[in-house]
Amino acid sequence: MANTPNPGRLIAHVDMDAFYASIEVIDDPTLEGKPVVVGGPPEKRGVVAAASYAAREFGIHSAMPMGQAVRKCPHLIRISPRMARYRDESIRLMGILGTFSPTVEPLALDEAFLDLSGMERSIGSARELGQQIRAKIKAETGLTASVGMAPNKFVAKLASDFDKPDGLTLVEPSEAVSFVQNLPIKKIWGVGAKTAAKLDRIGIRDVAALSKSEPSVLKRHFGVLGLRLHELAWARDDRPVVAHSETKSVSHEITFAKNQKSTALLKGVLTGLCEQTARRLRHGNLVGKTVTLKIRFSDFATVTRQDTVGHPTEDAGEIYEIASRLLELEREVDERSVRLLGVGVTSLLRKSQLNLELFGPEQLQQDTPSLDADQGDSKRDRLNQTLDRLEDRFGPQTTQRARTHLATGESED
Ligand SMILES: [Mg+2]
Repeated sequence: MANTPNPGRLIAHVDMDAFYASIEVIDDPTLEGKPVVVGGPPEKRGVVAAASYAAREFGIHSAMPMGQAVRKCPHLIRISPRMARYRDESIRLMGILGTFSPTVEPLALDEAFLDLSGMERSIGSARELGQQIRAKIKAETGLTASVGMAPNKFVAKLASDFDKPDGLTLVEPSEAVSFVQNLPIKKIWGVGAKTAAKLDRIGIRDVAALSKSEPSVLKRHFGVLGLRLHELAWARDDRPVVAHSETKSVSHEITFAKNQKSTALLKGVLTGLCEQTARRLRHGNLVGKTVTLKIRFSDFATVTRQDTVGHPTEDAGEIYEIASRLLELEREVDERSVRLLGVGVTSLLRKSQLNLELFGPEQLQQDTPSLDADQGDSKRDRLNQTLDRLEDRFGPQTTQRARTHLATGESED
């Protein structure tokens, strides 16, 4: 088994294709197929943060100075980054991934590891599972992802890069060593230009040569990194996928075009903010326990107040109950006018983690508790999901729940 690393494990690395640029194309379909980059303007010494595949054909890539990118492609379309939009889409993406595994480890807004060990059995095969992940991302976001699947993180990350964009590369445990040993040595984690040159000087020019070198020799030249390189050359990597929520808080806030003093009006606005926040939570497959109210007065003094719900929630009504109570407690609102109002939810959990906590291994072995007691909740969940779908299709104006959302200013995100 020495040449079959991590048997029994199945790790996926999901990497969105040209994430920021692709979102811009989704939002403005006239950009489809055109050379699009996201990044700051050349006169401000901007850098390319993302390049569409049409832009890459001109030799443009991320981290390139914008001035250089424009010289390579004079009709390049440059868009300033809209981080709040990308973050929103990332929350949605991680939420989708969370429906496939409770163990999702985000690495960036647009990439994550998933531990899928054993999960391929109920689907049929690892490849089918990978296709389902890609199909669900495409259906729910309109964006494409490249997925690598392998027995460990190191090989999975190499695999997602192997057939980009819109690809799926599955590396079976028995193929992992030859997969890694056929890649250029610079693909090995930790081998940059400097290390590659140094390896070259001691006669190591490819991964196969690296695997055959003496660990003690590598250690003498590269220290602990040398031993690590030797392990990687044999596709060995035991690092676990560590689940954590990339999202620390979900919030929504509004800066008023004109400062506001009326508590009644602020409460109306608060309703809309709570609904937006709840919607983001649901998109992210998240629930949270702590509700934060943020008020910025006309003199820019800012107060935040928070309170905790008894149980993790994603419901606009429950969030509103707490936020409006916090607003009522804020005596100064009567005296000073308000410039900005915001609602946030923190202490977040994935819904899938919540289920695991509620029905831990012990309970699962006994009779699973009846879910019927929660019928009211699941009905509400269904209502919320239906409203979300409507809003996704027709925009937030379509659905107005019981209270009115007063649109008095522009959203600050
Ligand atoms: Mg990416």
